Amino acid sequence: VPTANDSSTDCEAPPQSEELEDDNVAYFIKKKLHVWCRQPRGKWELGTIQSTSGEEASVSLSNGNVLKVARSDLLPANPDILEGIEDLIQLSYLNEPSVLHNLQYRYAQDMIYSKAGPILIAFNPFKNVEVYGNDYVLAYRQKLTDSPHVYALTDAAYNEMMTGEVNQSIIISGESGAGKTETAKIAMQYLAALGGGCSGIENEILQTNFILEAFGNAKTSRNDNSSRFGKLIEIHFSTMGKICGAKVQTFLLEKSRVVQLALGERSYHIFYQLCAGSSSKLKERLNLRAASEYKYLNQSDCTTIDGVDDAKKFKRLMKALDVIQMGKEDQELVFKMLAAILWLGNISFQDSDNENHIEVVNDEAVTNAAVLMGCSSQELMAVLSTHKIQAGKDTITKKLTLRQAIDARDAIAKFIYASLFDWLVEQVNKSLQVGKRCTGRSITILDIYGFESFQNNSFEQFCINYANERLQQHFNRHLFKLEQEDYELDGIDWTRVEFEDNQVCLDLFEKVLYDTSGFLEKNRDPLPSDSIQLLSSCSCELLQLFPEMLNQPQKQSNSSHGGALDSKKQSVGTKFKGQLFKLMHQLESTTPHFIRCIKPNTKQLPGIYEQDLVLQQLKCCGVLEVVRISRAGYPTRMTHQEFSRRYGFLLVEANTSQDPLSISVAVLQQFNIPPEMYQVGFTKLYLRTGQIGALEDRRKYL
Ligand code: ATP
Ligand code: MG
Repeated sequence: VPTANDSSTDCEAPPQSEELEDDNVAYFIKKKLHVWCRQPRGKWELGTIQSTSGEEASVSLSNGNVLKVARSDLLPANPDILEGIEDLIQLSYLNEPSVLHNLQYRYAQDMIYSKAGPILIAFNPFKNVEVYGNDYVLAYRQKLTDSPHVYALTDAAYNEMMTGEVNQSIIISGESGAGKTETAKIAMQYLAALGGGCSGIENEILQTNFILEAFGNAKTSRNDNSSRFGKLIEIHFSTMGKICGAKVQTFLLEKSRVVQLALGERSYHIFYQLCAGSSSKLKERLNLRAASEYKYLNQSDCTTIDGVDDAKKFKRLMKALDVIQMGKEDQELVFKMLAAILWLGNISFQDSDNENHIEVVNDEAVTNAAVLMGCSSQELMAVLSTHKIQAGKDTITKKLTLRQAIDARDAIAKFIYASLFDWLVEQVNKSLQVGKRCTGRSITILDIYGFESFQNNSFEQFCINYANERLQQHFNRHLFKLEQEDYELDGIDWTRVEFEDNQVCLDLFEKVLYDTSGFLEKNRDPLPSDSIQLLSSCSCELLQLFPEMLNQPQKQSNSSHGGALDSKKQSVGTKFKGQLFKLMHQLESTTPHFIRCIKPNTKQLPGIYEQDLVLQQLKCCGVLEVVRISRAGYPTRMTHQEFSRRYGFLLVEANTSQDPLSISVAVLQQFNIPPEMYQVGFTKLYLRTGQIGALEDRRKYL
């Protein structure tokens, strides 16, 4: 942050610093300027200083009350002209109450989008806001408006791709429930509107959202439609700018959710949709019951979501599967696997001897699961209750304990689900296949879960946070480049701008504490060899398509080597790191555009703005740092015309020239704005922090 010392010039200007210092207080009193005053419960309120004595100040609040407060509880507020400003970098003072107030002011008026320098900040309105649809698409396309919006950002990405022939990316981050997935869909809708043609592929792309959400989203305590996987979609365009194909990549699906749920949360939507929405004939073929009859679904005491009709969603899903041209037989196979998973969860165990060993209860759960998977009940029961160990030439069969049996059962369920998910993504990609006429131009949209810090942080959080760390790094590098380019383009000497690079390097990755228990298990994610053998011998066609099955060398043999067969298989961590490396590589060759989604409250309700929650998110994703860095340069940018129109009339001596640039320079000189406080670009004036406040003041009081 520049440290211009105002007292060293005779220019009577408000403070540059974020704090109220001795010499500034007098100025604030004299000009009756607003200050933020910290209230006993930490809330900040606007007021004006009446007098000071020592370290105490007497402040008159806007409600008429006069309070005595410590000087350290006062911060300068921004001039009224900056109220609700679109870009935070234009604020004269960037203290926390100022930023929070500005965003709250906008949020209260449904202006959910703001800028923080190059970042688009998107507040979740938790209600329908009338800022989308054809009229808005047109308005942004034709540049009739340039207020911050996902459309504006997407439009910029599209234009840069078309004119600069550089691939683009839109990177969306934020906490769970902040609106990443919705924002990604809004960006996709804009691209579909722009790049739609007669092929209908844009509709297919939008439909894939529905499929991925049914299988990859679930109700959690934070979000009724929480994505439990990371998603990247690459949309390809022809030379004419028409969409000609797309490719989806997914990361780290939360498998554990299939078998284990926290109270009040749900498993993946598709299970409830299937139970509620399938026809009676399909139900019969799958031996399907109501969701409440399955342990995997009823364990959390929550099988429905307020305002969501699962049956209707199921019909919608089937339509989407039709659109991506999945045949009815394949659709039925998918449903069959889902039903098999549900029945697996109902399989129970009973004591078999006095040594804590168990056997499988031979009931309808086993029968149904086995039928659906295409194996015999006996085979399934054997895998769930025993473990084969190779000892020399002999195979020893050991009985499992209850814990081991439950783990074996759950591992099969998780494996089937995760493989099914991957297979679905593959089908989606086949249908969206990038066509021959594609030129290799693309816009990539990344919807990845943000930093997570729970009471207990485990392997998943570790991977997620690692990914975020890398993205943050990517962002920092990009930001500096962007600022420099901007200055260079307008002929500004950017060597006079000092970036404090390391400030932004978030240490969050280390701030978070991880619980390492289960870390290794989760990392290895083993599926016992006996189970793999069973699955590979099942007659269900879909199971045979899962890659792990295809790689089974001893598919026909009965021997087993015991232990984890997948020693050659990459650990989850290694696999994720590899994926991430590829992802970063891919992103680095694109021009990125960043959207930070913010959740205004934890109640998922409209109209509620929890200051602490917002502040914590702004800090967590480094938004405030970014603004500080952007401001280290010349945050206030006005075209010569804008500047001369607004301040030209302040000139004492009539300026004979009508030229906006000379009028502007005359204004700056008349008011003794020191030369280090501004630069004159080819098209714009660049002013240091706080300077616009000084001019506004003069404008008001002259
Ligand atoms: P997660 O990390 O859990 O997947 P997320 O950031 O993807 O969370 P979303 O699912 O996109 O969050 O948003 C949560 C909910 O907030 C949505 O289901 C929707 O009800 C609401 N929402 C988000 N963005 C908007 C918007 N622009 N307009 C209206 N409602 C929105
Ligand atoms: Mg999401």
